[in-house]
Amino acid sequence: MALDDTLALPFFDNGHRRFAGELSRWAAAKLPSLPHDDVDAACRARVKALGAAGFLKAAVPASHGGMHSALDVRTLCIAREILAFHDGLADFAFAMQGLGTGSITLFGSEELKRKYLPPVRDGKTIAAFALSEPEAGSDVAALATTAKVDGADFRVDGEKTWISNGGIADHYVVFARTGEAPGARGLSAFMVDADTPGLKIAERIEVIAPHPLARLSFDGVRVPAANRLGKLGEGFKVAMATLDIFRSTVGAAALGFARRALHETVEHAATRKLFGAPLGDLQMTQAAIADSATEVDAAALLVYRAAWVKDQGAERVTREAAMAKMFATEAAQRVIDRAVQIHGGAGVTKGVKVEELYRDIRALRIYEGATEVQKIVIARDMLKQRPGKAALAAE
Ligand SMILES: Cc1cc2nc3c(=O)[nH]c(=O)nc-3n(C[C@H](O)[C@H](O)[C@H](O)COP(=O)(O)OP(=O)(O)OC[C@H]3O[C@@H](n4cnc5c(N)ncnc54)[C@H](O)[C@@H]3O)c2cc1C
Repeated sequence: MALDDTLALPFFDNGHRRFAGELSRWAAAKLPSLPHDDVDAACRARVKALGAAGFLKAAVPASHGGMHSALDVRTLCIAREILAFHDGLADFAFAMQGLGTGSITLFGSEELKRKYLPPVRDGKTIAAFALSEPEAGSDVAALATTAKVDGADFRVDGEKTWISNGGIADHYVVFARTGEAPGARGLSAFMVDADTPGLKIAERIEVIAPHPLARLSFDGVRVPAANRLGKLGEGFKVAMATLDIFRSTVGAAALGFARRALHETVEHAATRKLFGAPLGDLQMTQAAIADSATEVDAAALLVYRAAWVKDQGAERVTREAAMAKMFATEAAQRVIDRAVQIHGGAGVTKGVKVEELYRDIRALRIYEGATEVQKIVIARDMLKQRPGKAALAAE
């Protein structure tokens, strides 16, 4: 099922189909001309180009010049799928503008929305989301960065790490311990400008699929009380509500990578001659193509189911989003691995698309909740919602 076939499903309306067509044409024409070498410059160029072309309107609400009244998860997913198909860094640039402002859209004051959303929409400023710490990744309750009341401000001290756009972002949504209760219930969220005194880039981190990433240190960083997002002690709620929207979109990016790997697989299998015939004539190659095509379709259905449920107004889509993220990222890893195998030596050669995809997909199984965390989320939800014997008898 190609993207166009997916878009023909009743999950979508004509606005989604139009958006997909425009973005696909733009991505094919524009992205190859953008710089690739220096990762910071490449990322900035993608943010600027996406903003200038109007596609970042999908990442902010209509009240502040965006595309839909609330963030439309299907549009975010379509955008990530298409951009990932063409260029992993373009997907990253788009995703971070949304993730780095999602908490403002959901919980920010009107003043914060007016200040931060329009420049992000236009690709003039770069956003980031700073939750993880050296000792608190999957275990958010272990967060140690503190925000203490200091006159009219908060004083933030601590460290954040693996922060995407760290080093090039203009502002960060920062989660810190304000101490109303132990664990995850004692956190609050704040907007912190990158040039605030005391906020430093402690280390730039290089990863297998290059993109801007850094460890940040906060040393007596003064943040105005008006920069708080949501209520005191609601930081975990802010983070989870934001991730509830963006988790399905990680699945969509994985779907874009997988779709591209499947495309490359079919092209290669049809054109590479082996033992006097196309590689695709061999039944083991056909088995690999069949497995990959089926996994791509299953991932698409799970991703767009989660997006559709959220867009219908569901308060939370925790289980659907966890299934979509877990399945789509794990399936994409398998699809891409098969693509590399079918390409033989070419598959591990730098500059060949499937080699790039092999590196692009890996982190998606870890960030925004590793696969193991998604399994726990899904299982706990199943156990909480178990129908019981009476329901079974009624069926
Ligand atoms: C490329 C990249 C970009 C990132 N960008 C951001 C960002 O912009 N902002 C941000 O805040 N963070 C970001 N992160 C951090 C990311 O969210 C964390 O890496 C992730 O939450 C995992 O935390 P950890 O690395 O500390 O691993 P740990 O929490 O130490 O977990 C290690 C491994 O343990 C396993 N595991 C975890 N929990 C369980 C469990 N309950 N049961 C069994 N096994 C388990 C998983 O396999 C996991 O990968 C990014 C990470 C990467 C790699």
